Amino acid sequence: MNWDTTFAARTAHMRRSTIREILKLTVLPEVISFAGGLPAPEYFPIERVRQATDTVLAERGQEVLQYSTTEGMLELRDFIAQRLSTPKLHLSADNVVIVTGSQQGLDLIGRVLLDEGDTVIVENPTYLGMLLAWKPLGVRFVPVSTDMDGMRVQELEPLLRQHRPKLVYSVPTFQNPRGVTLSETRRAELVRLVDYYGVPLVEDCAYSELRYSGDPVTSLLEMDAIHLHTDRLEGNVIYLGTFSKILTPGLRIGWVAAPSPVIEKVVQAKQSADLHTSTMTQFITYEMSQDGFLERHIQKLREVYRERRDVMLAAMEQYFPEEVKFTRPDGGLFLMAEFPEYVDAAELLKLAVEAKVAFIPGEDFYVGGIGRNTCRLNFSNQKPERIEEGIRRMGELLKDEVIAHQFATR
Ligand code: PMP
Repeated sequence: MNWDTTFAARTAHMRRSTIREILKLTVLPEVISFAGGLPAPEYFPIERVRQATDTVLAERGQEVLQYSTTEGMLELRDFIAQRLSTPKLHLSADNVVIVTGSQQGLDLIGRVLLDEGDTVIVENPTYLGMLLAWKPLGVRFVPVSTDMDGMRVQELEPLLRQHRPKLVYSVPTFQNPRGVTLSETRRAELVRLVDYYGVPLVEDCAYSELRYSGDPVTSLLEMDAIHLHTDRLEGNVIYLGTFSKILTPGLRIGWVAAPSPVIEKVVQAKQSADLHTSTMTQFITYEMSQDGFLERHIQKLREVYRERRDVMLAAMEQYFPEEVKFTRPDGGLFLMAEFPEYVDAAELLKLAVEAKVAFIPGEDFYVGGIGRNTCRLNFSNQKPERIEEGIRRMGELLKDEVIAHQFATR
């Protein structure tokens, strides 16, 4: 059997994710890895998961182990709707569908909105998992560049006019991979533009609750409602959220919040994908979030990750040559470094692995074959001492590169 000639055409766009491949490196304990996007496992609320599991099995065991609705557990949807609601925006459970990680939300949104040949506008660099999910659909990605305030929305309008995109996708808050946050002014302009041009806007908010410094920002979901003078979800924004970074990724609980026509289609697509997200982990997630536990836990994570971010930034100041630039995120799990043009991050990674430190070369996050001299660094998964040591090791390698270049060009 020749399988290579048997697979569907769309599989030509499917690749093993570089992230998953590189994650293999992280299993060796001596490697200090900044490569993954993993939360700190020592802060997983293991005891709380155990208690919640006991409680839901004891109190609602027959429901917990049964098939359930595609939309998801009503109490959990209600809880999410309330947490997303603000004085200016009211969501109900009908605006929410539970998905198996927000990654499934991306997959489903792609299925219900994107046809082959469609154009999707993305900030550059962007979330690799989105590119992997939507590339097989045969769509074309048009990049908008980013700076320290996120997507350069001032470049968007000509692209909207020229390409008539089917979707704009953004991670506006503590972006993966750069860690930057879209400014309030740009948020207002972004929702105005997508409304004017009638384009759906996907707001992927995996990290927005993990803020360590700076002022809160308005979600695009709320900004859109304000722009449209409504307090209901009836605009252009489709919001993706997740418990992965604020509780644990292993539960695989995320959500899509959107106007009801979108929810309706996403539910239809989800039904054929997996019938419903695990009833058991939905009940556990709901149960463990009660009595203020979720908010306390988020507060704890903010303290832990703030320290790790600060240690990484201070170490980069100390050990990286001044030719290296980097972002200074107010939250999230990542920052991005830009090396001098002559440093190839993929080549540097080979040396880094020998020196027992790992990062992800940035190129895969970029559309259009740029970013070879960039890398993404995760600061949530290593303890502060290891962060400092890993950055010191990277700094040595980078200094060698700079000196070698100075010699070569003399
Ligand atoms: N969106 C973004 C921007 C992410 O970084 C991630 C996790 N890496 C996801 C979505 C998917 O997360 P999950 O499926 O665990 O909710």
